Amino acid sequence: METFAELGLKEEVNKALEDLGFVKPTPIQQKAIPHLLGSTSDLVALAQTGTGKTAAFSLPIIEQVDIKDKTVQAFILSPTRELCLQIARDIESFTRHLSKLKTIPVYGGAKIDTQIKQLLAGGQIVVGTPGRVCDMIRRKKLDLSKIKWVVLDEADEMLSMGFKDELDFILETTPEEKQTLLFSATMPKEIARIAKKYMTDPLEITAGQKNVGAENVTHVYYMVKPRSKYQALKRIADVNPDIYGIVFCRTRRETKEIADMLIQDGYSADALHGDLSQAQRDVVMHRFRSKHLQLLVATDVAARGIDVNNLTHVINYSLPDQVESYTHRSGRTGRAGNKGTSIVICSNRDKHKIRRIEKRINKNFEKGSIPKGREICEIRLMSMIDGLKKVEVDEENINEFMPAVFENLEGLTKEDVIKKFVSVEFNRILAYYKGAKDLNVSDDKERKDNKKGGRLEYTRFHVNVGKKNNLDPHRLMGLINEFPELNNVAIGQIEIFKKFTFFDVDSDYKAAILKALSNAEFEGIALVVEPVKARPEYSQKNRRGSRDDKEGRSGRRGKGSKRAYKASRNFRKKRR
Ligand code: ADP
Ligand code: MG
Repeated sequence: METFAELGLKEEVNKALEDLGFVKPTPIQQKAIPHLLGSTSDLVALAQTGTGKTAAFSLPIIEQVDIKDKTVQAFILSPTRELCLQIARDIESFTRHLSKLKTIPVYGGAKIDTQIKQLLAGGQIVVGTPGRVCDMIRRKKLDLSKIKWVVLDEADEMLSMGFKDELDFILETTPEEKQTLLFSATMPKEIARIAKKYMTDPLEITAGQKNVGAENVTHVYYMVKPRSKYQALKRIADVNPDIYGIVFCRTRRETKEIADMLIQDGYSADALHGDLSQAQRDVVMHRFRSKHLQLLVATDVAARGIDVNNLTHVINYSLPDQVESYTHRSGRTGRAGNKGTSIVICSNRDKHKIRRIEKRINKNFEKGSIPKGREICEIRLMSMIDGLKKVEVDEENINEFMPAVFENLEGLTKEDVIKKFVSVEFNRILAYYKGAKDLNVSDDKERKDNKKGGRLEYTRFHVNVGKKNNLDPHRLMGLINEFPELNNVAIGQIEIFKKFTFFDVDSDYKAAILKALSNAEFEGIALVVEPVKARPEYSQKNRRGSRDDKEGRSGRRGKGSKRAYKASRNFRKKRR
């Protein structure tokens, strides 16, 4: 199948696709659309970000809904409101010439009354986010009992965002007889489980390799000290005067901080994160899309589903917890045949993560060298001169002023004039980089920092919350990550008991952990954190250097952990 016309879609839809400039279906569309038009069996479709999954599921649905009937017939669940709105917008663009077909987006952070009114007025397709959809179902404003299609879009992201309960609740309200479609960029174990639980003999289709970064993306990492990360970011921006990219941070707090600092330092940047109102986000996104912003600083969640095709760079200011998220991030550049660069600014503690990502994307990172002050000055200078050469001279209008200008400059040589002219723009950057340090961490230094032949020293802490307080490893890591000074800290083993928890953290951060967590709360409980002795055998083996070793470290109480528990009990007794 070479063209959309061959699919035999409704004339109105073909016209809309033509308007949009869609001629040839993408590989995932070529595989999914005929299946969905011809069969009612379930479908798992895996394809990277940006491969056209929205049209792959929505075109067959549009083709088959009963336009005369205004009840909800298709339901699409999406993890974030940006994505929800984008899907709704896409479907609206496909159905532009089918005025009776209504698509209703139902998402949090906007007035519920308006959405209720829309639902009451009726529509064949509903696109929603988990929280708001549950709310609407509970209020009996959204009835999914008659639907024929359920689409779980970005299912991997839905799970990593912790929407499993919502997913269960929503799917409970749908009829037995329906076609379930699951779209995802990756296929982690949890997705396989979901597919097993909710789908009947799904057909699995894959377009391109799953879990693999886009072909046109070069992956580069820069190794610096944790405290030099921001300076490194600025230098990267400085040597790429035409940069147009997303800077990914881990937390809202970090996102705000980095964006604020960049703005203060005169960069064209802004932040996108969950604390912004929908209107504020729209403003930021509009400025970014129209290229009035060069750098968008964002969390994974906020950037989800943002569809901007010509990014030159994706910068991982902090690496994500999950390797999959890296694939999503880097997949935002190198689209539509363009080249892109995915940059990781990291410290030697992240080295193992880089290796893990390399395995997953089946591609090696290049080790980049943060340019030194001199190099940056040179590059900026040349970029400025190139710009100067391109300036068009308005002969007609400028000539009348030139004699006065020449007169004024009399006595200065050509060289003097050029030097002064260049300096106007350049003094700032020269001053900034004068005597600037080399930010790169050399291999020697890395070895010294990495105590005990690459192993980190951990300190074990006891904290007064546990399972009873709904603590789980993810939430504990979230809690620690919320503090910017702890953002990059390596977390080792976590053992969660009913009323308390043990966790291991890089010993260099002992004081920082005590300071930060002692003033923190969890589920309304003031935290009491104290260091405890690790059990002796534990310090020699089974050290986990990374926080993304999430599996296998829930609160299982193995032999070793019982001993650890005893050891720390003794310790606590002694202190009393
Ligand atoms: P995904 O959900 O796989 O990440 P999207 O469905 O958001 O990808 O599509 C990515 C971009 O590609 C969108 O801008 C979309 O309009 C465009 N697109 C999708 N299908 C086609 C096609 N067949 N021809 C041209 N552009 C397409
Ligand atoms: Mg999509």
